[in-house]
Amino acid sequence: MIDSLTKNKDKGRRTGHLFVVSAPSGAGKTTLCDAVRKHLPQLVYSVSSTTRSPREGEREGIDYFFVTVEAFEKGINAGQWVEWAKVYDNYYGTSVWFIEDQLKEGRDVLLDIDVQGAGQIVQRYPDAITIFIMAPSLDTLRRRLNERGLDSANVIGKRMCNAENEIACRPMYRYTVVNDHLKTAITHFVSILKGEAK
Ligand code: 5GP
Repeated sequence: MIDSLTKNKDKGRRTGHLFVVSAPSGAGKTTLCDAVRKHLPQLVYSVSSTTRSPREGEREGIDYFFVTVEAFEKGINAGQWVEWAKVYDNYYGTSVWFIEDQLKEGRDVLLDIDVQGAGQIVQRYPDAITIFIMAPSLDTLRRRLNERGLDSANVIGKRMCNAENEIACRPMYRYTVVNDHLKTAITHFVSILKGEAK
């Protein structure tokens, strides 16, 4: 596949940047990404497709495109996903057409995806700017997951186990943001994006 980052560079046009952010659940990624999007309204957020059910308050086409397993698997065969992964027994994927269109238009795109997806993006777009968000400790992660009250004890156990595997992938990322104090973490995150998007 043609790497649009390279292709547009050759034509001397301003190209979009691809920002990839991953984090174990409970690290505060959603809060951080929402804050960053307010600071950088021109940043385009890539809405993923997933086969998991919507949580309370989640909106179709804004938080996710909620699709059936059948439709998702059809998409795999059709080459619809620039990356995809199975996370907690559900499929998640990013549309290749959406990403390519945005980059060609010179827009910067933010992908909030898991470590498996990030690995696929780095393979395909070596210039992608990768950011890993960490909680200060595993204990903090567990506390945050309990406090947010979204998941059963069984799911929290799975998320904690997954968190350790995800943290092991941190060296793959160009930047790490430790979400200890939210304000400081937002400032750090925004400064990375601003610095790289010049
Ligand atoms: P959640 O179900 O809590 O919204 O997301 C679970 C995990 O799936 C998170 O780590 C999130 O970053 C990841 N995720 C969301 N969308 C995508 C995607 O399009 N591709 C991949 N690989 N992971 C995704």
